Amino acid sequence: MSVATIPPRSGTAFRLSKGQLLTVIDPQGEQVADLVVFNAQDIREAISSGRSLDYASKLYLTTGDLIYSNRSNVMLSIVEDTVGRHDFLLTPCSRETFKIIYHDENPHQGCFGNLEAALAPYGVQSDAIPVAFNCFMNVVIAPETGALTVEAPLSRGGDHVTFRAEMDLIVGLTACSALQSNNYTFKPIDYRIE
Ligand SMILES: [Zn+2]
Repeated sequence: MSVATIPPRSGTAFRLSKGQLLTVIDPQGEQVADLVVFNAQDIREAISSGRSLDYASKLYLTTGDLIYSNRSNVMLSIVEDTVGRHDFLLTPCSRETFKIIYHDENPHQGCFGNLEAALAPYGVQSDAIPVAFNCFMNVVIAPETGALTVEAPLSRGGDHVTFRAEMDLIVGLTACSALQSNNYTFKPIDYRIE
């Protein structure tokens, strides 16, 4: 497949068959992409941040690491990563994020709203959307207090991360809509399936 583009502050969803590779590309640099996946045969099974971080015994997943489901099955493996810094702690940005953190009175629907809309045709309901694997998101953690700071992504134009599907999947993917996460500019995300 050729490269597809997700326009700034939007999202998409698609099927990915077991064994296929999904490459998420940051074409311009410093842009986050939220990734969620569901078992195509049973959408109650979805990626689990808690289980994946527990089994990896670390916060920063990269090449060679596995992303597990809420049922402890491997859903994705990371086969290539040119950045090495992604977040798997924070939920997709949402209307509430923009109200609570940015005090925005007329908030954008965010990655959460974009995922909700893109995944609805696959039967995924809002409450089932898990913590996303936030490609390129750079969350810095203070060792003593655990204070979180969202810094500019370390990705430069053309950086990418490639996942292999370890089961048949429904994928939701965004070009993130939050100011801090993307160094205050909204850019597209590219992806390729092969
Ligand atoms: Zn977002």
